[in-house]
Amino acid sequence: MSKKRVYEYAKEKKMSSKAILEKAESIGIHYKSHMSSISTDEEKKLDQLFSGKNSKNSKKSEKKAAPQPVEKKHPNSEKTDRPKKDKASKRKNFSQEDEEESGNKRRQNKKNRRQNKSNAYEDKSLKYNQRKKQHRDQPKPAETHKAETPSKVEFYDGMTVAELAKRVKKSPADLIKSLMMLGVMANQNQALDSDTIQVILADFGIEAEEKIIVDPTDFDHYFEEAKQEDKDKISSRPAVVTIMGHVDHGKTTLLDYLRQANVVEGEAGGITQHIGAYQVRVGKDKENITFLDTPGHAAFTTMRSRGADVTDIVVIVVAADDGVMPQTVEAINHAKAADVPIIVAVNKIDKPNANPDRVKQELMEYELIPEEWGGDTIFVNISAKFGQNIEELLDMILLVAEVEELKANPHRNALGSVIEAELDAHRGPVATILVQEGTLKQGDAIVIGNTYGRVRTMTNDQGRRIKTAGPSTPVEITGLQETPEAGDRFVVFDDEKTARSIGESRAQQAQERRRNQTHKVTLDNLFDTIKEGEMKTVNIIIKADVQGSVEAIASSMKKIDVEGVKVDIIHAATGAINESDVTLASASNAIIIGFNVRPTPLAKSQAQEEEVEIRLHNVIYDALQEVEDAMKGQLDPEYEEEVTGYATIRETYHVSKLGTIGGCMVTDGYIERDSLVRLIRDNIVIYQGQLSSLRRFQDDVKKVAKGFECGLMIENYNDIKIEDQIEAYHMIEVKAH
Ligand code: GDP
Repeated sequence: MSKKRVYEYAKEKKMSSKAILEKAESIGIHYKSHMSSISTDEEKKLDQLFSGKNSKNSKKSEKKAAPQPVEKKHPNSEKTDRPKKDKASKRKNFSQEDEEESGNKRRQNKKNRRQNKSNAYEDKSLKYNQRKKQHRDQPKPAETHKAETPSKVEFYDGMTVAELAKRVKKSPADLIKSLMMLGVMANQNQALDSDTIQVILADFGIEAEEKIIVDPTDFDHYFEEAKQEDKDKISSRPAVVTIMGHVDHGKTTLLDYLRQANVVEGEAGGITQHIGAYQVRVGKDKENITFLDTPGHAAFTTMRSRGADVTDIVVIVVAADDGVMPQTVEAINHAKAADVPIIVAVNKIDKPNANPDRVKQELMEYELIPEEWGGDTIFVNISAKFGQNIEELLDMILLVAEVEELKANPHRNALGSVIEAELDAHRGPVATILVQEGTLKQGDAIVIGNTYGRVRTMTNDQGRRIKTAGPSTPVEITGLQETPEAGDRFVVFDDEKTARSIGESRAQQAQERRRNQTHKVTLDNLFDTIKEGEMKTVNIIIKADVQGSVEAIASSMKKIDVEGVKVDIIHAATGAINESDVTLASASNAIIIGFNVRPTPLAKSQAQEEEVEIRLHNVIYDALQEVEDAMKGQLDPEYEEEVTGYATIRETYHVSKLGTIGGCMVTDGYIERDSLVRLIRDNIVIYQGQLSSLRRFQDDVKKVAKGFECGLMIENYNDIKIEDQIEAYHMIEVKAH
């Protein structure tokens, strides 16, 4: 249970926090500030103190200072008692006055009261509000003044001092002064948190309205608002379907079949422009179903993790000849996590070894129970390849859509999500978006992710230019300032100026978030970072010895897709890992993967300083596996290499039968007979293996330390050259995490 804070208590008592602090002090309770919490015991004591006379009077002293008699210059609780008595005795006297005089007296009283009001006001303004000259020059009745300072104010977390000042009808300087009293040094552009705002408002005797004013850059609000649209404004919209399932179970075949079937259905042209989603017309009523053309769980979850909840129904494809496989389970989990209804399409029933019942049986374990077995999951046996039962599948989708009562309001500014986006060399940023609410029109001012623009062109899934797109329609648009990302949401605004300012603020916020993301990513903390939802892309820099390896690693890395997190290769090149690589990694929170290359000494120390992780490999598969394992949280660093020393080859001797002996000087650390070694030439690893001999003069030795010369041979390797570096290392066991 959270304790009450001073300002909250003050609000309850309709007093200023300052007054509460003073009162508390008078009974020996010391609070540090308005934010201090009050214990139950203390609250009781304070309640007692304020019960009856005090609370009322204090209230009066704050709010009703004006109607008090003139002599009451310092309206504090003790003194207010007296005038009350005076008033009472006056009233008593009044009752004894004779009838004739009473009228005059009442008039006189009224006049006095009015006089008092303005006097009291003047007094107050002189004392507390000396800056407000205009009030002093033209003293207004207290009521008018009260109306000026609102009794209630709406606020939102993060409101600036200047904004709040406007709302409370005070100068920013007044607010800054109050903040200083609270120990908060602020300028007028400073954003205030909700607690501070409430304290300030309580101090001004203004009630903080709980209805929080919406931050215009927060898209959640627009989507929520759309959901609460009046019933008479909304109408049915097509279902948006995602197809998921294990690899090779027929997702692509099904999507292709549906797309072609649609074209064959006579929607002229027969163009099937791939824009990442398309609509299929079904049945007699020609109802539309929108299919997202991006099979794959990662895409689905990436969209979700970026806030885009576009899918209404998931079709899970399971091959009848293969049954439930790991990615089938993954798909089920993704769909369940999104709380989306599932239809199971048991595919490849044309195959002789197809066993649809086995699929049903296996899926029972995942709570997908067919209707005929008492469950509520719809199963359709299909053959995507031969178009068998596809219509039934579509009918079932329509049925589920009907049950789900999918509705939207087509008569509002459009809202939706990005399905795909890319930078086109000729057209600039191009995005396929799905309209989820409202109708998108050509020329609309749009904020999309952290960018904005004006919808210059709209193209539908048939490749045709269109002018408007209603709910559940996928369209490709151009006219954006920058390329958004899949899963970004968009909102249409009435004018370009608003869109621009909101887009720019969002970009700025995003940049700040990135800047604040200070901790560096390492393969060890990668999984936790992903889990915390802080990471959507893992930035990687690749350095390798040859271009072929660079390309091979880069393209394989890009394919790693775990938990909706993608790998982004921000830089890939040949050569040693240098300082500029480390700088880039540090700035973009990237991990450096070195393949057959080493960092230069300067780069190495810079990486240590800036906590940039460098991972060195000489087997492509290992490099890929390590990154993938780290993303999955399965990294198992049981062994770590420890470099013990370096030696430089000064001479080489070729001995027939034996091979090449390197005469060298240990330049750093030490080398041992059983060391593992790498031969490095111009920062590139040429060979990796172990020593076959280590000698000083004629003697075999176990260890040679820095500053000593030695002769060494590398097992199965003779191409030793002068100036080559020998890196000696051991594998040491580290505790598993
Ligand atoms: P995806 O990885 O889930 O997208 O699977 P694909 O759609 O690429 O299909 C994998 C393979 O299964 C392809 O060779 C398809 O031709 C084949 N396939 C898909 N559906 C069927 C079907 O209904 N019957 C048969 N016999 N083969 C199918």
